[in-house]
Amino acid sequence: MTAPIVAIDGPSGVGKSSTSKLLAGTLGLPHIDTGAMYRAIALKATRMGVPLDDADNLAMLASDSTIEFAQSPRGPRTMLDGDDVSEAIREPQISMAASTISAVPAVRRVLVRLQQEMGRRNGGVLEGRDIGTKVFPGTPYKFFLTARPEVRALRRHRELQEKGVAITIEQVLAEMIQRDEQDSTRADSPLSHDSSYTVVDTSDLTMDQVVALMVSVIEGQEPHRSD
Ligand code: C5P
Repeated sequence: MTAPIVAIDGPSGVGKSSTSKLLAGTLGLPHIDTGAMYRAIALKATRMGVPLDDADNLAMLASDSTIEFAQSPRGPRTMLDGDDVSEAIREPQISMAASTISAVPAVRRVLVRLQQEMGRRNGGVLEGRDIGTKVFPGTPYKFFLTARPEVRALRRHRELQEKGVAITIEQVLAEMIQRDEQDSTRADSPLSHDSSYTVVDTSDLTMDQVVALMVSVIEGQEPHRSD
């Protein structure tokens, strides 16, 4: 039997990262953070001075890169060409750059292929924007997470503060709105979901509650939809 794929899609600040990590641990599956892959390419392009609208060079750069996830005592690490970029990819300007380069179809092709290879190896909990629509549309386990905008901004602000990034909540909200708009309106693989997803509003749920709900859906129990 092939190992299962769980797709967790949704915008930023809805709790995708924390819940997908916990769910992966609960199910004994690898956690694959596809946003980190777009961020890694955005970081490399920025460092190399490749313009973020130069589709040909961005595609070449993506094909020539090695992205891996490694385990360390400090938790999961994102490795780009052998270097640990886990912290560098979380800078706010890299969030925007990732959103911009992720609209380039040739970049998406390279990263989607890599994500499919990773998932086919041992299954996985994949978090992103297009996992259930494009990367693994055939999986029966699809979740789309949402939350009220003010809750999302607060969560993201807390996350960034914990990482030592100096930013106001107003800046977080403005960046979030701009990134959502960009991610939802791009021509290739916009952020979206259909009726094959279980939609979960995480605004008033704890991480444990979200994970318990997902496990119950995966195990074929009554799906408690909250859409
Ligand atoms: O999830 P995260 O905020 O780390 O993703 C950074 C950016 O990467 C998103 O704003 C989105 O533009 C892009 N992305 C994507 N498809 C994915 C995952 C992330 O386009 N599967």
